[in-house]
Amino acid sequence: MGRTGAAPRPPTTGAWWTLLGQAMLEAVFPQACFACGDFLGLPPREDPREARLAPGELFPPPPDRAFYRAALRRFVCGACAENFIGLQPPFCPCCGAMFTSREGGNHLCGECLAKRPPLEVVRSVGRYAGSLRRVIQAYKYRARLELTAPLGALLRAAYRHHWFQEEADLVMPVPLHPRRLRRRGFNQSALVAQAWAAATAKDGGGPAFAPDGAVVVRSRATRPQAGLDSPARRRNLRGAFRVVAPGAVEGRHILLVDDVYTTGATAHACARALKAAGARRVDLLAIARVDVL
Ligand SMILES: [Zn+2]
Ligand SMILES: [Zn+2]
Repeated sequence: MGRTGAAPRPPTTGAWWTLLGQAMLEAVFPQACFACGDFLGLPPREDPREARLAPGELFPPPPDRAFYRAALRRFVCGACAENFIGLQPPFCPCCGAMFTSREGGNHLCGECLAKRPPLEVVRSVGRYAGSLRRVIQAYKYRARLELTAPLGALLRAAYRHHWFQEEADLVMPVPLHPRRLRRRGFNQSALVAQAWAAATAKDGGGPAFAPDGAVVVRSRATRPQAGLDSPARRRNLRGAFRVVAPGAVEGRHILLVDDVYTTGATAHACARALKAAGARRVDLLAIARVDVL
């Protein structure tokens, strides 16, 4: 059932009130699924799965399909929530790539074995596929900023699970390319990190957050990465990041936030700059990861 099913009729005076009511309802409950466009209906008021993730919980589970469905219930229909693939073992404990085979435990992937990347730990909420991919695209390219809070909730849940034993000192977004920032008008990673920070501030505990540009900035414009091979990408990004607050970095465990982790070239360059400024360890948490294995 598509949302364009009903042909628009010229409204009568009385119908204006109905339309106004519908518009208000739609503002609160967007009615089309971001992934398939189908009618969503009124979402359930609360989800017991979400209520269980209360502050003070000892070992929070990773955001699974039920959590995903609950967090995005106003934007993604139940059927599309089913295609969410959360990060689950076995994966590479370093770069967080999920192995195709579901057998066995976590182990280093070939790439990390050959050369340890500057990011010590990379994790994601889930795979960049299905409805999660559509949601991130709507967020980035259509500026559907109402997705900020649910995406922040997903990040927060993933953080609480994966960094349970080793909390980060400071969380910050990967700075966006200045040209892209001008075009888009917002840094999506900074916004979701802000939403996460706001939820953390309300509940207490958790790491400190640094806003976009407070600690590290893009010091120069780089050429687009597309079409460049790996060494060329690295050369292209050399010196692209500059730490403006070394005092906030020295000896600290830093967690970078990004929307999508692909090759990691940009994040690696950012991590190298932070480490050169004295960071003890740099990790990264992405909403979604493009799996290469
Ligand atoms: Zn759907
Ligand atoms: Zn790896």
